[in-house]
Parts: sequence; C-alpha cells; structure tokens
Amino acid sequence: MDDQIINLSPDFQPLESVEDVEEFYQAISREKLTHKLSPDRPYCYWTIETYDKANGIRGGGGLGVLAADMRRVAEQLQVPFVLVTPFYPWESHQKMVNLEQIDYHTEINYRDFGFSFVDKIRIKTATTSVELDVVEKKMGSSRFLCVTEPNFGELYSGESGSDHRLYQEVALGFGGYQALKIVGLRPAVIQLNEVATFFAAVARLDELVSSGMDFYEAVVYTRKHTLYTNHTLVQAAEATFHYSQFEQYVFPNIKSTAVKRWLSDKFTDGTIRLSTPTVEIAELRSGVSKLHARVANYRDINGTKIKFKSVTNGIHMRTWTLPEIMNYYYEHGILDRFDLPATPNFEENVSKITADDIRELKMTGRKRLNEILANRTDQYGNPVHIPENAILFDFKRRFVDYKRPWLPFSNPERLASILEKHNAHYILAGRVHMGDTTMFNKLMDLLHVIDRNPILKERVHYLPDYDEELGLALSLGANSSINTPIVGLEACGTSWMKDIANMGLLISTHDGGVADMPADNYLTISGKTEAEECEELYRQMEVAADAWNNDFDLEYWIHKELIAYLDIISGTRMMRDYLNYLF
Ligand SMILES: *Cc1c(COP(=O)(O)O)cnc(C)c1O
Repeated sequence: MDDQIINLSPDFQPLESVEDVEEFYQAISREKLTHKLSPDRPYCYWTIETYDKANGIRGGGGLGVLAADMRRVAEQLQVPFVLVTPFYPWESHQKMVNLEQIDYHTEINYRDFGFSFVDKIRIKTATTSVELDVVEKKMGSSRFLCVTEPNFGELYSGESGSDHRLYQEVALGFGGYQALKIVGLRPAVIQLNEVATFFAAVARLDELVSSGMDFYEAVVYTRKHTLYTNHTLVQAAEATFHYSQFEQYVFPNIKSTAVKRWLSDKFTDGTIRLSTPTVEIAELRSGVSKLHARVANYRDINGTKIKFKSVTNGIHMRTWTLPEIMNYYYEHGILDRFDLPATPNFEENVSKITADDIRELKMTGRKRLNEILANRTDQYGNPVHIPENAILFDFKRRFVDYKRPWLPFSNPERLASILEKHNAHYILAGRVHMGDTTMFNKLMDLLHVIDRNPILKERVHYLPDYDEELGLALSLGANSSINTPIVGLEACGTSWMKDIANMGLLISTHDGGVADMPADNYLTISGKTEAEECEELYRQMEVAADAWNNDFDLEYWIHKELIAYLDIISGTRMMRDYLNYLF
C-alpha cells in the first residue's frame, strides 16, 4: 500500500541562513521574533487530527490538512514549531463493493515512518492508569511530538461525547504536555486547534499552580499565551460530557484543587461543552475565514457573544502546487522566495500569464493526475484515465450533507448533455464518515443515477477512499472544480485553494474563505433557492468549459483568481497572521 503514496513535499528549500530567517521575521513583524521563539521555547500547536500520510498520520479532512500545512510552513520558514498530536495505531479506509462503500482498517506502526521512541508516560483514570509511548520525529525547525498506545484507536473512533473520545482528548492534552517537558521544551505559545485539545491548556495551568504560582496569576498567564482556533459555527452542535466522565478521566490527572474547582464550576446541570472553559483559558481566539469569524455563534459562560479574530486558513503552497507552476510563479515575479505575492509588480506580472502557458502547465498536471489514477479504481473497480484533450470537472470533498455533493446530479440529463457537448469528464471523490447513514444512502443513490444513464456512466467517475493523494492529483489535473457548500456553513475550506493555486477555474457558492474576496473573482453560484443555485451551477460549468477554448476568457478568469486569492492561499501569509496575532 505504501508504495502508492506519493511524497507530497519532496523539494523543501528551507531558508538558508540566519539572515534569511531574520529577514522573514522582519518582513512579517514589527518586532524581532527570534527573541520570543527559540528552539527550546517553540510555538506549540495542539491538534487531535493531522493529515500527513507521508509521515504516517492519516486525518479525516480539512482540520488535519491545516495542521500538517502549519508544520510544513513552519519548517520551510524555520519557525521553531512543535505539532502535538496522537499517532493513531489504526486508520480507516473505504472501498466499493456493488456500489456500496465498505469500511476497513489497517494497522500503522510509527517506526515505519521515521518516528523514534522517547519515553513512556501515564494517564490516570479514577480506577486505573494507562501507559502511553511518547514518540517524535524532527524535521528541520519543526517536530512531531506524539502520544500513542496500542488501544488508542483511530481518529474519531466512538461517538463524539463518548468515554473513548474523552480519553483520547485527555491523553493528547495532559500526555502531550508531559511529553513536551520530557523533551525539555517550554511552550512560548499554545495554539489549540479546536476544543478537543483543551486539556493542553489545563495541563499548563495545573503545572503553574502546582509549582507555586498564585491561581489567578496562573490563569492570566495561561490566557495570555493560549490561542483557541475555532472551526465550527454553532456551539450547540458541540458534544457534551457529563460530570461523572470528568471524575473518571479528567480530574485524576489534575494536581491542584483550585484548578479542579475552576473546571467544576464550568458545568451546567451536570454537563459541559469544552468550548465554555476553552474561551476562558484562551484570551486569543480565532476563526478560519472572515465570514466564519463574523458568524460563529459562541457565548461565554455569562452569555456574552465571543469575538473571533479572523485568520483565514492557507495551504503550504510547495506541497499542493505542481512544481512546474511554482517555478513559473517564481520566475515570473509572481511569488517571492517566502511564497508571498512578489512585490512590487505582482498584479502586473499575473496579468502577463498567457492562455498558452496555462494550457501547457495544465497538460503537465493532467499527466500527473493520470499517473495517480492508474493506481486507483472507480466505483466499478476499474482504473480511470482522463483523455488529454478532455475537459475535467471535479468535486472532491468529504461527503457531508452541507457540502451537497449531489447538487450537480439534480438534473442528470442536463449534466449528461453538458459533459457530452464539451467532451468533459467529471470526477467525484469523497468519503462518507463511518456511521453517517444519510450520506451513505445518498451516495448509493447517486451511484445508481450514474449507473442508469449511459452518458454519465461513461463520463462520471467516483473514486472512493478520498485522501490527500487524490486531493492533490485532482487539483493538478482538473480544469474546473465544483464547491457547493450551503452558504454560511463552510468555515473556510482549503480544497478550492489547491485548485486556484494550480490554475483551475473555481465554480463555487460564496462561502467560507472564498467569501474573503468579492464574488466577481471566480465563477460564482448564486441563487435564492437550491433550484436557482443548481441552474447557476450548470450555467457556470458551460462558462468554464467554453473558457478553456477561448484565450481571452481563460486569461481573464485565471488572472482574476490569482490576483484576488494568491495572498490568501499562501500558508506563509497564514503563519505571518498568526505570528502577528500571537506576539
Ligand atoms: C484539502 C483536503 C481537504 C480539505 O477539504 P475542504 O473540503 O476544502 O475543507 C480534506 N481532505 C483532503 C484529503 C484534502 O486533501
């Protein structure tokens, strides 16, 4: 299986000298960051999910991709950085049998991915204790610091309010904090990637208080150095835990009675949502796009609405962009060596990109895509090859309701006629979360709609087991990608960033990070009803297909997209925004 995995980031060219790093820090910050961050006082990023298969950790979606990209950007820019995350000994996969998704599991050993054993730690429960391995892998200025044990399970195993989930979160928070101390590090700042990592902040608070600091001083100190990044829109959707679960799994790991009391006070009617104490222990709070930071509806324990600073997600560009396109951006004064838009002539230089260059680069991307597709199979178990001269649309996302993967199939005849008229193919890649029977059935229905229509059967390919390899491949080789979240429900999304970086035409509703910029910068799907949106989607698919045969239109849209979004897409921009917010 592993030889199918492509290395997503083979050609790191980290900044070469100390002067380079200083220049980057100066370019992004008013102050010299080297005084605040150092190898033994790093930026510590806690996450329950990481998506970095080349390093053995498979995630579930955007939250994990973001964490992996943060580390890659830190490595490239020589920011001292620790990613604290579980190493899951099991991972889930999907395959198709008779047009039905079947889940299966594989076992993963950290030693196969260059991790080394550091030490053992213990997490307590009311009745017993669990021994976990601390393992690490250093990569430049960054490192993975992981906790793991054979029964840790897989990502998101168990219901979201379950004992096992709480155990995983406790092990990551308290265990990860112990791990940090074992390897001799003190956090300069702690970033909590969603509330599942809350216990890292509790571990820090508990350490300060039990080593003699006044409780209120310790709270102030922890608050000042903790950033909570929210990815969810509605607080009510968050799982709750019971007091008895905390007695079993959480309190045994806290030394200070003051900290236990503080945490107990956050329960209402015997239950707790982790966001409630998280917003109290993190003075810094961010949302992942402008729209999301504005609309995320969270309240503190007094009922006051929480303000989130927006730091829109970015991607590690060298991981997700065709190397030929990256070189093109460097050589044509579009990106600088930090992967930020190059000054002073960025817009002018983008405007000089020609349709011929775009088509040639896309052709190279299509070849890469086909190489990867040769190792994968469609819903019938057959490999897929997209002809070089065909237009390719793609929809690649987790199959969750709000992303509406079925929307383009609302009118199968209409879709078939568009694909046939433009000699176009359509790749649908996704995975249904285990236990999501609604989406499981919707996917099966969709596959039967495709099966019944001979044109769709020839031109629509469903690829199961969606992962980062497919995500990358499709961004490289598709002409146009389709992104249809119900407006207001996507926190940011990053797939669309991979598509724009690779000179694809984005067809999207105006949501998530896409809505950071006005809607006339890409092929927008608007409409008051789903039927209207669907009509717009079909119209924009025709616009996109036509544009690939019209130099003026192709240049117009690619220039618009790149000028509007390259800065947002750049993971360096994201790191700069976080560093500026944190320090
Ligand atoms: C990029 C990527 C994502 C992010 O997807 P969004 O739907 O844009 O949030 C999720 N999963 C994989 C495998 C990816 O490569």
